[in-house]
Amino acid sequence: MPEYKAPLRDMDFVLNEVLNAEQHYQSLSGCEDATPDMVAAIMEEGAKFAERVLSPLNQIGDQQGCQWNDGAVKTPEGFKEAYDQFVEGGWPSLAHEAEYGGQGLPESIGIIVNEMVGTANWSWSMYPGLSHGAMNTLHAHGTEDQKQTYLTKLVSGEWTGTMCLTEPHCGTDLGMLRTKAEPQGDGSYKISGTKIFISAGEHDMADNIVHIVLARLPDAPEGTKGISLFIVPKHLPETIGTDNGVSCGSLEHKMGIHGNATCVMNFDEATGYLIGPENKGLNCMFTFMNTARLGTALQGLAHAEWGFQNSLVYAKDRLQMRALNGPANPEKAADPIIVHPEVRKMLLTQKAFSEGGRAMIYYCAQLVDKVERAEGDEKKQADALLAFLTPIAKAFLTEVGFESANHGLQVFGGHGFIAEWGMEQNVRDSRISMLYEGTTQIQALDLLGRKVLMTQGESLKGFTKILHKFCQAESDNSDLQQFIKPLTELNKEWGDLTMKIGMKAMQNRDEVGAASVDYLMYSGYVVLGYFWARMAKVAQEKLAAGEGDAAFYQAKLTTARFYFQRILPRTRGLVETMQSGADNLMDMDQEHFAF
Ligand SMILES: Cc1cc2nc3c(=O)[nH]c(=O)nc-3n(C[C@H](O)[C@H](O)[C@H](O)COP(=O)(O)OP(=O)(O)OC[C@H]3O[C@@H](n4cnc5c(N)ncnc54)[C@H](O)[C@@H]3O)c2cc1C
Repeated sequence: MPEYKAPLRDMDFVLNEVLNAEQHYQSLSGCEDATPDMVAAIMEEGAKFAERVLSPLNQIGDQQGCQWNDGAVKTPEGFKEAYDQFVEGGWPSLAHEAEYGGQGLPESIGIIVNEMVGTANWSWSMYPGLSHGAMNTLHAHGTEDQKQTYLTKLVSGEWTGTMCLTEPHCGTDLGMLRTKAEPQGDGSYKISGTKIFISAGEHDMADNIVHIVLARLPDAPEGTKGISLFIVPKHLPETIGTDNGVSCGSLEHKMGIHGNATCVMNFDEATGYLIGPENKGLNCMFTFMNTARLGTALQGLAHAEWGFQNSLVYAKDRLQMRALNGPANPEKAADPIIVHPEVRKMLLTQKAFSEGGRAMIYYCAQLVDKVERAEGDEKKQADALLAFLTPIAKAFLTEVGFESANHGLQVFGGHGFIAEWGMEQNVRDSRISMLYEGTTQIQALDLLGRKVLMTQGESLKGFTKILHKFCQAESDNSDLQQFIKPLTELNKEWGDLTMKIGMKAMQNRDEVGAASVDYLMYSGYVVLGYFWARMAKVAQEKLAAGEGDAAFYQAKLTTARFYFQRILPRTRGLVETMQSGADNLMDMDQEHFAF
């Protein structure tokens, strides 16, 4: 039976030794309670819940899936009980404001819990995950009355939330959406339309579901400029138990995340309330989407970590063939497969992506803390940096998370393909992460087009300056040169490549699209390289100071070396392909793709 064990030592390393969490919290207003002891206690309790309650439900959720019966949805065995325990433990309120019943802790602490909960059981974690996004949207754009009515119930966990954007004819291109909102003259609206693929749209885990819905007012401008945002509850607060014209038409039959209900939702003159200004719904929804995008980046890490943990146990146990340099295990019939270089490559790749991804995501979560709690320039800079890093974290970490999940399966050989071991579930569950919350292609366009080129490279510079400063500060550190030298070169190359693509794009805008995914992946490898170099620096300092846990720090250095020598060179291929131009994609006549 596959298992999950929260990697508390590594989480503590990233949080406290690399990202100086204590200092970070002390510098932010309202974070006084986030002392190292308090954070350690939250991590321990979160780990127990994830390991003991959620992990055992992961395979059950996959096997049973959700069941639809006349509009009602039954979640897999144990899901509701686990949710009740989650609510009783006060977990939904962790990173939300005290005035609405929250514990007022920063987002970066919430994300640690989300990591453990999500790695143990991604499908289950999506129910509270979507609520979290709904809460952030209401917090940022709701009226005081809406916050008192809906936010408090979401914070307590009594109700859950969803995000209703997608319609049958539009997913990426939300400008085409058709769901209608008719004003009723009393401040309410009648919402009518069909949404598809709505995660956690209907279930039996909570008394009410707060749908955050994109719809169009009568006479709204065409396209994205005519979209407004609404709260549409399953039951109106004053009449819980009575139908509000919201129903689940069916459940999607899908490749993975079977424990999470993916619903077709019908809104039939359902009563709803406007959030934020008319026709500015998409802007408001961005609050939701940014939270959700970081949450989806976490899914990449979750599947990499889960696959790594389970394939490592297997690789030490499974005996096949002899080590090339002679038997490592002469008393047994064969050696454990972990002796074979190519098996080690698969394990180290998963380890490098998982531990590096953790550093990247925790760093982004600290930026969220600053956006929410810092002032002036510090807040502005954090906001710009977060906007730049979000598409990279979302798309890059989910792509390499899927790659890692595949390596995890491969380590198991044929047994990886067999359901019992859970590795094929991990691959299936991870696949969606590159699709929802904006596909990899859309994140890549957002990064290169909107974030980088439209700011004339300013947002890129925001990060390359940080990288440059780090490399300069370590330029005399001979032990770190194996990391600093390539990073310094990549940092310069990144700017040069951006400039070249920008120049070509002035003649032909397809050049942006044609370079975009390669550019995003290149950026991801460089950003991850920065975090591996930072982790290597800490490990080197700890080893030099003779501080305990030498094996842990040595392993960090070894993994950093693996990353720089075996993974980072992938940037060489990407440099070639991203510069190869749009013609090799656009020259093919549409009718000549197949004969
Ligand atoms: C299991 C699951 C759960 C989901 N949960 C939710 C949810 O809770 N709420 C919600 O609102 N939605 C949800 N979605 C919808 C999801 O966000 C969309 O499926 C996704 O945004 C892609 O939209 P689409 O499926 O319509 O694909 P399309 O937009 O039709 O895209 C098809 C392909 O074309 C590519 N493409 C499109 N435009 C461009 C472009 N300009 N440049 C390059 N490539 C392009 C895409 O990358 C993709 O590969 C969910 C989907 C699934 C499968």
